[in-house]
Amino acid sequence: MYPAVAGIIGACLALVVVAFVHIVRRGLVRRRELEARGNPVASEEVRTVMDLLHSGAMLVGPHDEILHVNEPGVVLSLARGSRVGFATLLDKIREVRASGVTYRGSIKREMHPGADPLELTTRIAVLGESAVLVIADDESTQRRIEAVRRDFVANISHELKTPIGALSVLAEAVEAASDDPEAVQRFAGRLQHESSRLAELVNQIIDLSRLQSEDPLLSREIVDVHEVVTEAVDRSQERADNRQVSLIVARTSHAYVIGDRWQLADAVSNLVQNAINYSDERARVTLSILQVTAEGDRFVEIKVSDNGIGISPEEQERIFERFYRVDYGRSRDAGGTGLGLSIVRHIALAHGGSIRVWSRPGQGSTFTLRLPAYLGPDPQESALVEEN
Ligand code: ADP
Repeated sequence: MYPAVAGIIGACLALVVVAFVHIVRRGLVRRRELEARGNPVASEEVRTVMDLLHSGAMLVGPHDEILHVNEPGVVLSLARGSRVGFATLLDKIREVRASGVTYRGSIKREMHPGADPLELTTRIAVLGESAVLVIADDESTQRRIEAVRRDFVANISHELKTPIGALSVLAEAVEAASDDPEAVQRFAGRLQHESSRLAELVNQIIDLSRLQSEDPLLSREIVDVHEVVTEAVDRSQERADNRQVSLIVARTSHAYVIGDRWQLADAVSNLVQNAINYSDERARVTLSILQVTAEGDRFVEIKVSDNGIGISPEEQERIFERFYRVDYGRSRDAGGTGLGLSIVRHIALAHGGSIRVWSRPGQGSTFTLRLPAYLGPDPQESALVEEN
């Protein structure tokens, strides 16, 4: 036989097989649909009630076919096409159908490799004579938020207790040393130091809770980024002088963003003060402003670089968490609270921006605050036009 003829016959055979499989599968799906419609449990009323629920809800027929699934159920992947979405759920449905006993508990669904399994809180019960009803909720997000809140409250109490304890011990020491003026003066100095630490901590906690509220921006105005950088340098100059660190404003470009200038200055001065605190004496801290385009959008980047102690890759992931410090002693000695970077991150997010770090232990760090650029008319030029 000619190879061309053999090829044509082969292709025809393959076509026939594909068409046959397609027809059989359509027939099966159609039969399931008819079964679903014919099932008295999946009445119009039951479907409407299921569609009104916030939880995921799915009704499964006697042959494991899906009779109905509401939208939250689809989002939770309770169903995959006309079948039950995953094996652990299917096993539980069969168990409940066989025993008739309602199940209340969690069911794990493996996600893609490396990701945490999704834990669904479920209620599974036999409904009528021929169906099983599944109600499911993903409570892992709620549980995560609750855990973060509990952590925060525990950390705040711990952080506040330390300076408050120190204040009361120092007050007692002053009382005991009432006939030694030199000692009284020394203790009074330390009392002042501890009370200003406490004030700083309370202020930062207030800042942080405001930044976590629904609308954290105090004002929305056109902000000249160069002014923000200058303000941050001014605020940090004294600390830099004390440690003989040079603050250098290197590259600047004329750039504007929309936001709250004081919050932005807070963010940049937190970065500058960290750069000073975690560098050796007589080091250099450099600030620069750049305009960048990423995925078609224009951004302004403020970079703060130091050649200080640096941060290891594992720690880099954690430093933006509240109260996290790599070296507790060094942070405390420098007047740190462990809240600075988490405030910076919240300010960045409130402005639709982001914060990232590049760092190498022993070489230094660069923190980059990226903000969406203001693209309207140049405010300085508009001011000139108005004056004329
Ligand atoms: P802190 O008040 O302790 O400085 P932050 O939230 O500002 O708290 O920073 C968290 C931790 O990140 C710091 O305790 C420090 O260990 C580390 N860190 C921050 N900035 C730098 C930097 N420029 N160089 C090295 N380590 C840094």
